[in-house]
Amino acid sequence: MKITPIIGLEVHVELATKSKMFCGCDASHFHAEPNTHTCPVCLGLPGALPVPNKVACEWCIKLGLALGCSINQETFFERKNYFYPDLAKSYQITQLQKPFAINGKITINGHEIRINRAHMEEDTGKSVHVNDSTLLDFNRSGVPLVEIVSGPDIKSAEEAKEYLNKIQQIIRYIGVSDADIEKGSMRCEPTVNLCIDDQYYTPLAEIKNVASLTGVMNAINYEIKRQSEQFEIDHQEKNSTNKTTRGWNAEKSETFLQREKEGSADYRYFPEPDIPPIIFTPEQIEAIKATLPELPDDKINKYKSYGLSDYDANQLADDKSFSEIFDKIVTQNDPGYAKFVTNLLIGPLKTISIEIEKINPEYFKKLFDKKSELSSTAIKDIILESYQTNQDPIAIATQKNLFQVSDTGALEKIAQQVIDANPKAVADYQKNPLSIGFLLGQVMRASGGSANPQLAKEVLEKLLSI
Ligand code: ZN
Ligand code: MN
Repeated sequence: MKITPIIGLEVHVELATKSKMFCGCDASHFHAEPNTHTCPVCLGLPGALPVPNKVACEWCIKLGLALGCSINQETFFERKNYFYPDLAKSYQITQLQKPFAINGKITINGHEIRINRAHMEEDTGKSVHVNDSTLLDFNRSGVPLVEIVSGPDIKSAEEAKEYLNKIQQIIRYIGVSDADIEKGSMRCEPTVNLCIDDQYYTPLAEIKNVASLTGVMNAINYEIKRQSEQFEIDHQEKNSTNKTTRGWNAEKSETFLQREKEGSADYRYFPEPDIPPIIFTPEQIEAIKATLPELPDDKINKYKSYGLSDYDANQLADDKSFSEIFDKIVTQNDPGYAKFVTNLLIGPLKTISIEIEKINPEYFKKLFDKKSELSSTAIKDIILESYQTNQDPIAIATQKNLFQVSDTGALEKIAQQVIDANPKAVADYQKNPLSIGFLLGQVMRASGGSANPQLAKEVLEKLLSI
């Protein structure tokens, strides 16, 4: 039996705007006193009228552009009707027919994942269960939310994780949300079904309540196993088009049936009558595009063009502020220098938290020019101290006597003294050349550790062979 998983992901991202989507309430709700960031609009009181948040719409477009989408210049909001205690209006304002952004894509390890849409909507309130009661907190009600829907192009739990990491990275690069899965500012719902022997399809399951990246992977793997087992049991129901919604139980590590999935008709969508159509001119969309920073893929390609490996390029581009530090130090394509700086940044400097303002590119350049006279350990120590004290690295190296003596004449003098002072070790060496270690150690010691070890060994061997 050949099993091909067909996985899609719906991602909800809370935008970090100051105010909510349709009212002026403070949109920050994490750890806020319950029901303190509310007003008649986000409490759904009769007669209250929504006014769209312009910045949120712009950020939704910005995110769409960063995901390679086309932007619908003219859009409108719709009501998605359903009842739930944390949805006070009994409908959510969202976009169905005309999302802000459509038809994008992102690439993961050379594999393209389509982005079907990124639309603007509002978050619901929160139900808090305490003992036998349910409490409602409406601070989150009306917080701007972008829903990003991928094509069913993901092939495994591992790839789903990489997809989510990439989405999160892009969102953080453009700064529209902290996209924190644990905090709930980024929430993921996988849809999973299987194609079996290239001809049968299992019913699609949409999985809810997944609260972590590991949860997403476990839920997908659980569904792949469950659906393939189920397929073997009810062979007669081949090519089912049923859809189901399943919940993820993180404690039991399994999904359970919540409901047969509703189609969009069940929500009785209709255009929101209280909000006129939203129109962005091509000039306005261009202006938003102009605010996009260099995105992760651009960074990675740039670093690879410097001759850096895939691994190095990804490490540098991983976090936007980290890559900006690299970009401040390495301003042009210089492969040797790029690799030298990369080794320092993802090596010793990664162990401390560095601030871009405190970085002096000139210090890196100076150290680079003298690197052949310094041991690799010395270079690491110097760069750390130079960063912490803002001292010239060359001054540090000189003070600490870290420059290796590469002057053959000076080394010969030291080596000859060591040979003269250690006749027994010299005799040992004549019997067994491997015992040169003792004499070499003496030379290093006599030089105060500053001798270039390779050169010191060559000088010793030359003098001993005479
Ligand atoms: Zn409000
Ligand atoms: Mn949604």
